[in-house]
Amino acid sequence: MSLTGKTAVVTGAAMGIGRAVTELLLQHGAKVALLDVNETAGKSLVEVLDKLYGRERTLFLSCDVESEEQIKAAFLKAAETFGGIDILFNNAGVLNEDRWERTVSINLMGVIRGSYAALEHMSKLSGGRGGVIINTSSLAGLGPLPSCPVYTATKHAVVGFTRAMAAASVASGYGVRFNALCPGFVQTDLFSAIESNLGRFAHLAAATQQLAEHFGLVGMCDVAEAALDMVTDETKNGEVFLVSPKRKEYVNFPSFVQ
Ligand code: NAD
Repeated sequence: MSLTGKTAVVTGAAMGIGRAVTELLLQHGAKVALLDVNETAGKSLVEVLDKLYGRERTLFLSCDVESEEQIKAAFLKAAETFGGIDILFNNAGVLNEDRWERTVSINLMGVIRGSYAALEHMSKLSGGRGGVIINTSSLAGLGPLPSCPVYTATKHAVVGFTRAMAAASVASGYGVRFNALCPGFVQTDLFSAIESNLGRFAHLAAATQQLAEHFGLVGMCDVAEAALDMVTDETKNGEVFLVSPKRKEYVNFPSFVQ
């Protein structure tokens, strides 16, 4: 499906999964605002992307998702530059059990800040066109990663927030779909640095390594394709896509309301 004419905002776009999703969105015709706290990586990526896709299709905006002010300013700039926002990929994240309050602030509160700021531009109740918000959770959003209790908590919370926002959006008439992406282990800087960021759980580093070996590494392309599926399939709202080497599937949750 073509995304020509659509505008996307991607947080944590300079590297890793955010970068892969950004490139796939551009390949499908979207314009993309790349938000990241790492200005050097973000600007040099945009230079590369401009040559491939054209200068008018990308925009780098320095933005720390810990700051509501910076998020609001970046989303406004993206909407003004491209004429609205149709797609948000709330992806910026860290794994740091030592600086756990910052982990909560980025992984969970950053997703909430991003979603609420995006609704100001996307919700049909505030003059937007509607659209879709994809939040990056993790395999650790569906089951425990013993060496990373706070990271696990943030990623479970992202799943819960996404599903509740999907239902709230339908009930309120926002016209915005909400879905969550749950990748297994992916070879990125975050993954490479896990062992040095376990804080009081550093003694569980070997067990984490064994878990990663047990699950295997999921390919970046598979993760980006899963995100794209949730963007383009307009029947998907409140869905959670698990992407691991052995399983690529939407997750079934128990139904509490008959
Ligand atoms: P990464 O470290 O390669 O990239 C993360 C990007 O987010 C970087 O560009 C970084 O500068 C940016 N970022 C970090 N803090 C930020 C902030 N406060 N504001 C704005 N940008 C910020 O990591 P990744 O593995 O690509 O992770 C992306 C997302 O995927 C995260 O939410 C992570 O939790 C999740 N995830 C990763 C894995 C994995 O194994 N790599 C697995 C499941 C889920």
